[in-house]
Amino acid sequence: MIVCTVSGRSIKYMMLYHSTRSREDLCGSKEAILKGLCGDGGLYVSDGILNASIDMKALMDKSYEEIVMEVFGVLLDDYSEEELDYCVSRAYKGKFETETLTPVTEIGSRYLLELYHGPTSAFKDMALCMLPQLMSKALGGEKVMILTATSGDTGKAALSGFQDAENIGITVFYPYQKVSDIQYLQMATAEGGNVHVAAVRGNFDDCQTGVKRIFAEKTGEIREKYGVSLSSANSINVGRLVPQVVYYIEAYKQLVKRGAISFGEKIDYVVPTGNFGDILAGFYAKLLGLPVAKLIIASNENKVLTDFIKTGVYDKNRPFVKTISPSMDILVSSNLERMLFYASGCDCEYVAGLMKELSEKGRFEVTPEVLAALREVFDCGFASNEESRQAIAEAYRKDNRLIDPHTACGYKVAEELNTGRKTVILSTASPFKFAKDVYEALFGTLEGTDEADGFAYMNALSEKTGEAVPEALESLKTKEIRHRSVVDIDKMAEFAESCIRA
Ligand SMILES: *Cc1c(COP(=O)(O)O)cnc(C)c1O
Repeated sequence: MIVCTVSGRSIKYMMLYHSTRSREDLCGSKEAILKGLCGDGGLYVSDGILNASIDMKALMDKSYEEIVMEVFGVLLDDYSEEELDYCVSRAYKGKFETETLTPVTEIGSRYLLELYHGPTSAFKDMALCMLPQLMSKALGGEKVMILTATSGDTGKAALSGFQDAENIGITVFYPYQKVSDIQYLQMATAEGGNVHVAAVRGNFDDCQTGVKRIFAEKTGEIREKYGVSLSSANSINVGRLVPQVVYYIEAYKQLVKRGAISFGEKIDYVVPTGNFGDILAGFYAKLLGLPVAKLIIASNENKVLTDFIKTGVYDKNRPFVKTISPSMDILVSSNLERMLFYASGCDCEYVAGLMKELSEKGRFEVTPEVLAALREVFDCGFASNEESRQAIAEAYRKDNRLIDPHTACGYKVAEELNTGRKTVILSTASPFKFAKDVYEALFGTLEGTDEADGFAYMNALSEKTGEAVPEALESLKTKEIRHRSVVDIDKMAEFAESCIRA
């Protein structure tokens, strides 16, 4: 237990959070979760995790919720047990279609960790169902409005995560007529009294710029008028990272329980990644004592992370490729900054230097020592679009498994590295969420169908394979349309304010 004085207050937590770029401001996890990003542009990290550990063996017959309590109790230790109980009881209950939140199933000689049984059929639900609960308890009665711009996908995950969260409202802006029909329905049918959605006459950039402008120009005014702060559900929030640690332990537990491994055996996890969030959570699980051999980065054609582990040079100066795994189409992997912090022996100054180089030159190179530390933990590989399609076909024909294009990158890399150890591939989305690309990889083009009709591909994929469309997607056809607002770019602030008044 560390007791120290921070801005005049004495803090008694083990987990003190500070920026990856400096140790000047220390805070507990609640403050880190409310702020999201540090004032100096860095990400919240804690040195405390290096000295923390969890009795993993004792978790091998616990429930998912009990593992959450254990992990949060260590990493978010300024929350009381009652507060954590509240968060755990509200986050996932009734929102998942499987009894086991994250089932581990077989795929050939390996395993799939299915992270896509939540409200949007993709893995971001695991974090976005929990973050709002953690925020609610950190707020201590204050009120917040979350403002988000989305190009289509994260919008719904945020909406369903924040649905009916205490003291928090959410307003999502998306580009009018520039999202898929399924994405449109996901947002237009979103439920919850605290949930607001508007289509903006403009593109995604306009939505994003509009939201940034509201933050810059309206924050003070809105706080004064309504007593409400503005916030975002940023992907680098500690409250999104920590919930992801849990399913690494849960997967290990399921394998031990069914006798596929004995406790203590080190296994590999293959993680389709872009922003480095999911796989970083795996590193946290390893730090806490989970028997992990290697964490394997699976990139798509935007293979900036794979090149980095291979060469020590991170270079975003390259063409941006549109792939069939769009959620990994990223050239700046924000969460890597946290890994650089740990791999450099918690050297803030060093990380700040690298980030400065990245912003000025679009590239940086790490020292041989840091590279060696990274390679100790990570291995890597990538799949091109063509290889992803082949992987989808191979998984189906050889292993009788339907996988989505993101998971397919993991499948290909697992086959290629073939480490000989027990391997869990993280499956990050339902194949039905990317039905068109999956269908085409397996059966070729679907004749007589409008390109944009996602439901036609979902149905056809289901018919051909005999697998059911997830309820979360199937039910969209019949759900009530609740959100019809369409606004001009210069009316976004007005709309946000009307949501705050509502
Ligand atoms: C966001 C996302 C990923 C990548 O997650 P990271 O946190 O960037 O590693 C992979 N697959 C799907 C389906 C996603 O939505």
